[in-house]
Amino acid sequence: MTLPRPNIAILGGGPGGYEAALVAAQLGADVTVVDEDGLGGACVLTDCVPSKTLIESSSTMTSLGRSASLGLELANGANPVVGVDAPALNARIKALAAAQSNDISEHVAAEGVRLVQARGRLTGPHTIAADGAVIRADLVLIATGATPRALQDGIPDGERILTCRQIYDLTELPEELIVVGSGVTGAEFASAYQALGSQVTLISSRERVLPHEDKDAAVVIEGVFRRRGMNVLSKSRAEAVHRKGDSVVVTLSDGRQVTGSHCLLTVGMAPSTEGIGLARAGVNLDSRGFIEVDRVSRTSAPGVYAAGDCTGVLMLASVAAMQGRIAMWHGLGEAVQPIRLSHVASTIFTDPEIASVGVSQAAVDRGEVAARVVKLPLATNPRAKMGGIRDGFVKIFARPGTGMVLGGVVVAPRASELILPLSIAIEQNLSVDQIAHTFSVYPSLSGSVTEAARTVMEFGSDAIV
Ligand SMILES: Cc1cc2nc3c(=O)[nH]c(=O)nc-3n(C[C@H](O)[C@H](O)[C@H](O)COP(=O)(O)OP(=O)(O)OC[C@H]3O[C@@H](n4cnc5c(N)ncnc54)[C@H](O)[C@@H]3O)c2cc1C
Repeated sequence: MTLPRPNIAILGGGPGGYEAALVAAQLGADVTVVDEDGLGGACVLTDCVPSKTLIESSSTMTSLGRSASLGLELANGANPVVGVDAPALNARIKALAAAQSNDISEHVAAEGVRLVQARGRLTGPHTIAADGAVIRADLVLIATGATPRALQDGIPDGERILTCRQIYDLTELPEELIVVGSGVTGAEFASAYQALGSQVTLISSRERVLPHEDKDAAVVIEGVFRRRGMNVLSKSRAEAVHRKGDSVVVTLSDGRQVTGSHCLLTVGMAPSTEGIGLARAGVNLDSRGFIEVDRVSRTSAPGVYAAGDCTGVLMLASVAAMQGRIAMWHGLGEAVQPIRLSHVASTIFTDPEIASVGVSQAAVDRGEVAARVVKLPLATNPRAKMGGIRDGFVKIFARPGTGMVLGGVVVAPRASELILPLSIAIEQNLSVDQIAHTFSVYPSLSGSVTEAARTVMEFGSDAIV
């Protein structure tokens, strides 16, 4: 006797939704995804993929800017000019995002998942209404993501006052870009547009940029920003943004005004949880409107799971995808490990990049974690010298006594690639001694990871013992 195939309905086709769909289909379920914008979600179409594509171009610009110091001469003698073709740059970004979304659609369709391209809403814990039909399911996953917030007195117009999703519609490089907000998204865009040639003003309400990140890393990035000519306004809260002819004026809470050609608002994300029938389905929200979930992605309603930015757990594509997969493994009765947020690796794609994993310096400083800490500047690394790289470091946190790797921070070009050995060490309970005994290539930036591991054992400061 064959058992009936379980039905799964997924609302939202970003990484939280489509990765879950793939797992459920591979486990034999009958899966329907309802998405109004396209598979890959905002991650692929407007947020993560477009911004990282932009940053690939801006990083190339930064490398070209270093060429004279590497003994190269660009055409046009002492005044080389590398321009930005904004329409071509933005067209490439959008085309790449659309192609990536298509690739995902084909992959998901090949696994037998049905896609309903429409706006949907829950009409109960086991039903989603979309496109005039009602989809009934044994299990429902909500993965509706989040949308950029605006200022109360600063509404984006898509022309000069922009959210991060509107900036790719510009037909010219912003001459003077004011970025409001110095968190991850603000810092990434400020870094990219400064490199492309915009005069950037970064408005930070806190004492330094990236206030929630490793302090040493944030200090390096702020120093690089300022050295490259960015106007960083610290302890400055933007209250209003208005158009004035062909310019924008940002008014700060102390009355100062900053004028530019464009303003980019990066003041956080609001969960997309309104008007989708959550109360009717018995799904509880927290005080900020995010869906409450446990570590296996269950909501308060039996049979209803949630994943990704709509849960506000950690707004990263990798976390959304893992929450979605875990939901399906759990819902379909597979063995499952609850999500381990302390193992999440993440990167801020400024130039240089900041990658981190595991415990933070702040937790060590607060005395919550006992750790030996070593910070090795990249400037002593031979490969860094060859590339003219002077900013950055590798930092490792290790447990006193056993030397188990607890965390790490890498500030370097392509730090997103260099963090992997430390992620593996944390996942596999490796010690700094084991990393120190691993071959790294000579010369390589990853040589600084093995060297930092050796140094922890020799000289690591016992931050807290
Ligand atoms: C500028 C920027 C850069 C980023 N860069 C990175 C990065 O480098 N690395 C990283 O890990 N993360 C990055 N992130 C975060 C990452 O994009 C999100 O964590 C990720 O998109 C979350 O995935 P999700 O599945 O929750 O939702 P989303 O990707 O937001 O997808 C949600 C989908 O649900 C659909 N939807 C919503 N409501 C409905 C409805 N009622 N009916 C039908 N469909 C609906 C939407 O149309 C959308 O397609 C970035 C975010 C921003 C803003």
